[in-house]
Amino acid sequence: MVKQNFIKLSKLFSLVVLMAFMSCKQEDNKSENEKIMSTNVFLEEWTGPYDGVPAFDKMNISELKAAVEKGMKLNLAEIEVITSNKEAPTFENTIVTMERSGSDLDRVFAYYGILRSNLSTPEVRKIQEELAPELSEFNSKISQNEKLFQRIRTVYENSLKTPLEADQQRVVDLTYKSFAMNGAELDDVKKKEYAKINKELSSLYTTFSNNVLHDEENYVTYLNEDQLGGLSDSFIKSAAKIATDKDHKGSYAVTNSRSSMDPFLTYSTERELRKKVWTNYYSRGDNNDTYDNKENIAKILKRRRERVELLGYKNYAEWRLQDRMAKNPENVMKLLNTVWSASIERVKEEVVDMQAVADANGDKITIEPWDYRYYAEKVRKKKYDLDSEEVKQYLQLDKLREAMFYVAGRLFNYDFKPVPAGTVPVFQEDVKVWEVTDKDSGEHIGLWYLDPYARTGKRSGAWATTYRSHSTFDGKKTVLASNNSNFVKPAPGEAVLVSWDDATTFFHEFGHALHFFSSSVKYPTLNGGVRDYTEFQSQLLERWLSTDEVITQFLVHYKTGKVIPKGLVDKIKKASTFNQGFATTEYLASAIMDMKLHLADPSSLDVGKFEKETLKAMDMPKELVMRHRTPQFGHVFSGEGYATAYYGYMWADVLTADAAEAFKNAPDGFYDKEMADKLVKYLFAPRNSMDPVDAYRKFMGRDAKMEALMRDRGFPVPSK
Ligand SMILES: [Zn+2]
Repeated sequence: MVKQNFIKLSKLFSLVVLMAFMSCKQEDNKSENEKIMSTNVFLEEWTGPYDGVPAFDKMNISELKAAVEKGMKLNLAEIEVITSNKEAPTFENTIVTMERSGSDLDRVFAYYGILRSNLSTPEVRKIQEELAPELSEFNSKISQNEKLFQRIRTVYENSLKTPLEADQQRVVDLTYKSFAMNGAELDDVKKKEYAKINKELSSLYTTFSNNVLHDEENYVTYLNEDQLGGLSDSFIKSAAKIATDKDHKGSYAVTNSRSSMDPFLTYSTERELRKKVWTNYYSRGDNNDTYDNKENIAKILKRRRERVELLGYKNYAEWRLQDRMAKNPENVMKLLNTVWSASIERVKEEVVDMQAVADANGDKITIEPWDYRYYAEKVRKKKYDLDSEEVKQYLQLDKLREAMFYVAGRLFNYDFKPVPAGTVPVFQEDVKVWEVTDKDSGEHIGLWYLDPYARTGKRSGAWATTYRSHSTFDGKKTVLASNNSNFVKPAPGEAVLVSWDDATTFFHEFGHALHFFSSSVKYPTLNGGVRDYTEFQSQLLERWLSTDEVITQFLVHYKTGKVIPKGLVDKIKKASTFNQGFATTEYLASAIMDMKLHLADPSSLDVGKFEKETLKAMDMPKELVMRHRTPQFGHVFSGEGYATAYYGYMWADVLTADAAEAFKNAPDGFYDKEMADKLVKYLFAPRNSMDPVDAYRKFMGRDAKMEALMRDRGFPVPSK
């Protein structure tokens, strides 16, 4: 998952300071206000080495709200300068000035992102709830700024007559389109309505994600000594530590997060406890209490529909997809449905295999959702003789990180060096920082921050983000990128051993970071991601985990240092299509639900009922659930980042499988020099400075085909 700071959006949406804001009354307070701000660390210029770095060690939450508010004001003042310009609008005096605006708010948001995602507390969540409507209003003030839009439109129309340089033209096109899509062309009455809806939505999003976080923190399952059957030593050790931290010394904690739930359901022999842990996890946001999200979702869907209707669209999906690679909901559903049929057929086969194992064991059960992972693991052992715990012994977090650096060196010519201790502030002692340089020229490219471990207040899952992005239009900006995971922190002196899936995710997020580092764009707007394309680069990078070069150098036993046996690697590769029914179906069910929820009539939608009936109509196998059930589907309802966009992972995977096959078939395989050069040049460095369809064609010489994806998953390739 990639988190794009919505700063870039606010850059587009700089705002006109309303005259009321500038009234004398406000001015009176200003000097006092300025005094406070001059010492507000969130707003200060970044100083120190590497072109300046955030002062993460000096964050003071009590100053956060004032800093965000001040940042918005400053940004609005910058927009006011643009709109009050007496000269005719030009690319320079309008678009370039917009690109330059908002730098104060950018800096505040680097910190705010950390406080929301990595170090959240009830205090931060309260501030978030207070700020959400203010930020929404701020965005509306920019996106609906009539004077600003007129200037943008003039530059755009002039560019149709006299085209600009390619990248400048793209900035203008994207800016114009973004304003048009966000209500800039509406009349005043509709604009007010539009802004009102956005404000309501922003509060609903915050409530949604805080509800999920609440349920993640408040449903911990404590085990006693007799309930540890099947669990690995490392799991037990960390479960004991978590329990101690939570004042339950002597017991063992299974937290309500994926990284705890997943291994527990895979290995625990305690069926009733599996059911309990499963139920807790898949009931997040769905407990019919104060923290239930179903009503919130219904409201969100209704507001989203009302908003796009103001713009003349039939539904949210149609509006959202117009500037995506997929272009429209029909193209998306066609892909999802094709894979869905093959996928649920595969689930049936998997269930038969699992039931056979259960029967042979004398377990008198019928496979239920809380049994799937457990018996799948047994089938894996039987059919592929592959023991995930054995594989884990060769997957050490530190070695995997070195492996990623090696891959980045081979493909991108990057060198990673740890920064000297104490030179770059971090927000938590476990966060480490590396300097990224070009191997040949020694040119400084940026810093890579890694926050590896789970902790209270950190959102679950893994993600990548930037504190500062590359651009050159206003002097070269170097990149500050970060990767964030939720590995369970080991007991002192122990190696962090991770599953093959988690290792893959680690590579995935690093792919996002490489995408940030390799940017060659001149203007900040061109760093933006096209949602169904932006997972492609990261998914592709996952493929280097299983290359021979990585295996022989980095997948070594945590105790003996011996390279993972070839036989075990063969088994891993052979087993790669294993359980694809489960993985593909749980994902697709969420992706299809996301689309269907936004295509449905929201006027009197009962979310619980809709989910149930839709799954029934889809023939969802009863032995598993959606990867993200609707009441906890943060991708789609804690903001708009992945709304009608969750399909993007599969869309991108079509490209991934296709491109990976091309690497596999290249003369020097995954490290083929010519392929690597094209990879960087066309697929990574341009970011959004060219249309993804064109970029892919340049790389591949043709459009992507879906056959490779079906082969990858071991599904039959549909005949034309
Ligand atoms: Zn991602």
